[in-house]
Parts: sequence; structure tokens; C-alpha cells
Amino acid sequence: MTTNLSCFQHRYLNHIARTPLVPIQLYDDQPAIWCKLEFLNPSGSTKDRIARYILEKAWRQGKLTPSSTVIEASSGSTSIAFALACAQFGVRFIAVMPEGVSNERVLIIRAYGGEVRFTPKSEGVRGSIAETERLAKDGNIFLPRQFANPDNAEAHRLNTAREVIDQIPGGTVDAVVSGVGTGGTLVGMYQGLVESGCEVVPALARPVNILSTPEVECYSFSSRIPGVVDSLSQIFREADLPNLLTIDVPDEEALHTTQLLMKKGFPVGPSSGLNYAASLALAKKLQLQNPQIVTVFPDRMERYFTTELFQKMLSS
Ligand code: PMP
Repeated sequence: MTTNLSCFQHRYLNHIARTPLVPIQLYDDQPAIWCKLEFLNPSGSTKDRIARYILEKAWRQGKLTPSSTVIEASSGSTSIAFALACAQFGVRFIAVMPEGVSNERVLIIRAYGGEVRFTPKSEGVRGSIAETERLAKDGNIFLPRQFANPDNAEAHRLNTAREVIDQIPGGTVDAVVSGVGTGGTLVGMYQGLVESGCEVVPALARPVNILSTPEVECYSFSSRIPGVVDSLSQIFREADLPNLLTIDVPDEEALHTTQLLMKKGFPVGPSSGLNYAASLALAKKLQLQNPQIVTVFPDRMERYFTTELFQKMLSS
């Protein structure tokens, strides 16, 4: 018996996306929020969509060949998604990330046959991006460049947004809410929903750290929600998002909401709690009757076992 490997690969990659959209109501006196369960993608995050879309497009255009090496800078879900997708495509993958990233991430990438190179922690993701550009000078290298590549948002415009329109009752959405890493999710979903005829409000969910003393209350961006950044990426900066609302969510509230979602049986990471809490705050602000607010649960809880969210549980 012969095995048709390319057919298997094709079918498996096809399972990336078409995730459920479910209404979730955590509190009796609050509306249900429509949540796209992106943690159900094969590598456990919404980044499978961009990895598949970017690689397939590059393959069709001849920019990616069986002898290529794909190199991406990411300390999180994107590297894991590319490691899985490259394993399926049968091409070499190198993830470049700042030192100090949790072991889980490094192990998952290596398990898929990917390689990991570290850049100094002090240089952050910027140092990793610069290293990918240096490595690209030699050989047959393909750089997905998730922070600047318009195909990132396009994957969400053509796939995530269209799925939402098919799935939501009446095919209309009032608002779309997301934290921003690369901005691909929020920008792409917003564009796709507008193209489908929705009058949709885009809302940026921003985690803030509140330092309160009797004299002063001070807000600053909080990095306790991994994957969501304060220096907004090129895709987000260059996008046209009229009437964009920014919803600040105290980081404690985002983490608490994540735990509530877990207790309801949703295996989500912290940015899902952020997105859900921001969606509730937005519902209050918009004051619509039965608003159709859509958000995403970007990734799975297992990636955060070594973070404060779970470390507290060990001692409780
Ligand atoms: N949540 C998590 C866990 C992420 O890793 C990311 C992306 N880095 C986001 C949210 C934000 O998604 P996007 O990059 O599409 O803005």
C-alpha cells in the first residue's frame, strides 16, 4: 500500500481554522459575548491561521521551496504555529527569540523539529527581529515577518472574519474586540467584517497596571498578559480603523476573568481573559440592546503553567 503523503498534509492543514463561535455569559446581569475559540486550532492558537496562509501563499508564488528555511522572530504562539506548519510542509524552521522564554515553548518548537536561536534578553523581540534579517542574508531563506507582513491581517480578513459572518445569527456584528500583538487579528477581522456589510466598531483591549496610593492613581501598560504589546506594530499603525475605541482593562481583572473562563471549562490563556473583560466593558459603553460583540480566545492555558496564573494554584 502506498501512502499519499501530500494528500494527508493537505487535509491536515485544512483543519487549521473553522473554529466554533460561541456565546458566553459569565454574569447574569451582563450580555453574552460571542467568542471565537481559536485555542482549538491544531497548534493551540490563532497563529495557525497566519502560518498556513503565509506559507501557502509563498509556496504558490515560488518564494518558498522544499529547500527553503523559514525563520521567524517570536517568543510565543507564532513560532509554535510556524514550527507545526513547517513540519507539515517539510521545510526547515528556525525560531529566533529573546533568552529567558519559558521552557514549554522551546520544547514544543523542538518537538516539531524546529530549531531555536536565542538573542540577548535585554534587546527584546526587536533584537530577535534584527537577527532574522541578518540570518536572511545567506541562503534560501523565507522570512514571514509577522509584524509587518500584510498577509497576517489578510489571513484574518479572508478567513476568521468570514467564518464569524457565517456563524453569528443574522450575520451582523456590532463590535470586534482584541488585544494587539502584531495587530493582525483586530485589523483583519475589522476589515473583513466591514467588507461583509457590518457597521462594526473596532476596539483595542489594553491591559493596564494600576498603581494606587492615597495621593495618586497611575495607569501604565502591563506586560502580565503575554502576546499583547504596548508599542503597537506596523500593521496596526498603518491600518485605517475609524472610530477605534481603546478599552483599558486592569491586568488583575484580565487574569481573574481568565480564571473564571477556565472554571467554566474553557482552556484559555491570559489574553482571552483580557479580551472577554474588554468586551464586557465595551458593551457597557455602547449601551446597545443585545449587542453582538465578537472577540477571540487566542490560545490555550497549557502554555502558561510556569507563569503566575498557575504558580499561585500550586500553593493554594
Ligand atoms: N494573544 C496571544 C496569546 C498572542 O500570542 C497574540 C499575538 N502575539 C495576541 C493575543 C495578539 O494577536 P495579534 O498578533 O494578531 O495582534
